[in-house]
Amino acid sequence: MIQLTNIEKVYRTSTIETLALNNVNLTIRKGEFASIMGPSGCGKSTLLNIMGLLDQPSQGTITIDGQPVTSYKDKELARLRNQKIGFIFQSFHLINDLSVLDNVEIPLLYRTGESAGKSRREMAKAALERVGLSNRMKHFPSQLSGGQKQRVAIARAIVGQPEIILADEPTGNLDSAMGNEILSILQQLNDEGSTIVMVTHDEAMAKRTHRLIRLFDGTQVADTLVSAGIPAG
Ligand code: ADP
Ligand code: ADP
Repeated sequence: MIQLTNIEKVYRTSTIETLALNNVNLTIRKGEFASIMGPSGCGKSTLLNIMGLLDQPSQGTITIDGQPVTSYKDKELARLRNQKIGFIFQSFHLINDLSVLDNVEIPLLYRTGESAGKSRREMAKAALERVGLSNRMKHFPSQLSGGQKQRVAIARAIVGQPEIILADEPTGNLDSAMGNEILSILQQLNDEGSTIVMVTHDEAMAKRTHRLIRLFDGTQVADTLVSAGIPAG
């Protein structure tokens, strides 16, 4: 589904050069729920942003569903990203002066020829129902708890029915009860077929996914199947 080959990422400023990723090779398969762990600054966000076509590698190739996208222009990347990928961030990134429902509709505004049968509004409502927030549609982000804000962000990520969900420390700003709730929602989306890659600092959260990838200093140092898992259903 996502294949990264010999990925290198160098950040250059006039004075500093940082090798953020060093020869990363990684394949994310359809239906997988993978987590990425590693110390602060080891390249986790950079890797996720490259996987999600938000950022370009300095070297190496990216293939999405068999299509090599490395030579794609920004516009093509944006289209592919909008079609296939949903993002969730640690700090939610909701727009504070839009209602919950309007926030969730945002990704659909960038789609053309979409939603012939079903209106954007209906799709946004359905996404909010899936995360258990139908009763907060008219609220504004400031009126919600952290866990509720993250559920809105998940609804926004899934409203366009992407195949892949990329989550950058989605539970990092939440207490453990809310974090567990968010992870359960992600597990359910994965059970229903979404491919998920999640960056986390939390070993317990990572153990609830299928696969644990560890980075150190921009290099992948481990890639293991998580066997403990969670009872199905
Ligand atoms: P992590 O998510 O594991 O904390 P990051 O991917 O954010 O790590 O960062 C990896 C390395 O790249 C760090 O050394 C960081 O300082 C550097 N870095 C990240 N983003 C930038 C940027 N936009 N410009 C320069 N250096 C950056
Ligand atoms: P944190 O809360 O740790 O600052 P976030 O979860 O907000 O991190 O964001 C994770 C990474 O994704 C950051 O490197 C940030 O620059 C990048 N990012 C956040 N929002 C966007 C966006 N809308 N488009 C592109 N990159 C983003």
